[in-house]
Amino acid sequence: MTGEKTTGSTEQANQVVSRLASPVSLVNLFGMDRERLRAQFASIGEKPFRADQIMQWIYRRGVDDFAGMSNLSKDLRARLEANFVVRPPELLTEQLSADGTRKWVLKVGGGQAIETVFIPEKDRGTLCISSQVGCAMDCAFCSTAQQGLNRNLDTAEIVAQVWFAAKALGGDFQNERVISNVVFMGMGEPLANYNAVLPAVKILQDDFGFGLSKRRTTVSTSGLVPFMDRLREDVDTALAVSLHAPNDALRNELVPINKKYPIAELMDACRRYTAHRDHKMHIVYEYVMLDGVNDSPALARDLARLLNGMPAKVNLIPFNPFPETRFKRSKQDAIETFAGILRGKNILATTRKTRGDDIDAACGQLVGKVLNKQKRRLSDIPVRAA
Ligand code: SAH
Repeated sequence: MTGEKTTGSTEQANQVVSRLASPVSLVNLFGMDRERLRAQFASIGEKPFRADQIMQWIYRRGVDDFAGMSNLSKDLRARLEANFVVRPPELLTEQLSADGTRKWVLKVGGGQAIETVFIPEKDRGTLCISSQVGCAMDCAFCSTAQQGLNRNLDTAEIVAQVWFAAKALGGDFQNERVISNVVFMGMGEPLANYNAVLPAVKILQDDFGFGLSKRRTTVSTSGLVPFMDRLREDVDTALAVSLHAPNDALRNELVPINKKYPIAELMDACRRYTAHRDHKMHIVYEYVMLDGVNDSPALARDLARLLNGMPAKVNLIPFNPFPETRFKRSKQDAIETFAGILRGKNILATTRKTRGDDIDAACGQLVGKVLNKQKRRLSDIPVRAA
């Protein structure tokens, strides 16, 4: 075989070289929380504090190659390069809305994409991130529900949304905090993807990660009671609950997960959640305002009775329409009357301003690009905590 110089053998040789150089065998550190990073570093005989240093470079300073990590010795960098890679998912596009809202589309493999929205306000900058490609909760008024659930995002895909947005917005998490709040209110039900969402929340809050305070990360749920209990035990984060109706008959129609975890059970879980921490943290109850469906003064009084005595704030969200929906947005005076009744009963009530409509970035308008139309619904997925 020696001396045989066919194209075939050259190709084979090239394949061997490219396989050796291929990043496939390298462990991707992007998306690991502190615990997992330390375990990786231990596996190559490095000290835990090295993992902390890398964590800061990745999340606080937005650096994704070891060569750019200037406080590491040449020797260490070479060892890292031989074992690891820092590879965030691919960013697709960015859109800017007339009101300053920005939207990014991230490629998440298999021809799929998800959306992330930044909403700048006077006193804060809120990033709204997705936790799943599509959603299985099937809420009647949400456009993401139309596509069903395609798949869960992994932790890297969840934190990459924050990472890209921070880079694009020009600040970082070291000095200039353009993103002050992160909310899981994009596509998906975060508590239905608990195992990926929990480490993501930890990275958001970690001093070596994005370093956000506990009150500035918000997990929003349609009411997966067992996972609300787990979340309470596992991490200290603000919680928002998508209530949308004060009685079971109506909520069963709007938020079908209510058939599994009805309002009484949900409220008990909320009480356990707020009682668990020694500091007072309100739960925010989201309530989409649907014309003639859930916006009557009588329902406002029922809602006030339901939340009476609980550390609660109600966020009224004017419905954002999308093609083929049977719902309409409540009239402005109905929204004001509703809010007035709640306030009259000493319940904090705010009305969410609708932002980013022109780029389909408002609540419930995030649909991403689910190319695989195979739908999975509530009934197909396990919703009980392990
Ligand atoms: N699955 C999570 C996150 C959903 S999105 C949850 O249910 O909480 C965040 C909020 O937007 C939820 O309260 C959701 O009910 C609301 N929402 C969904 N579609 C909407 C629409 N078309 N108009 C206004 N709000 C909507």
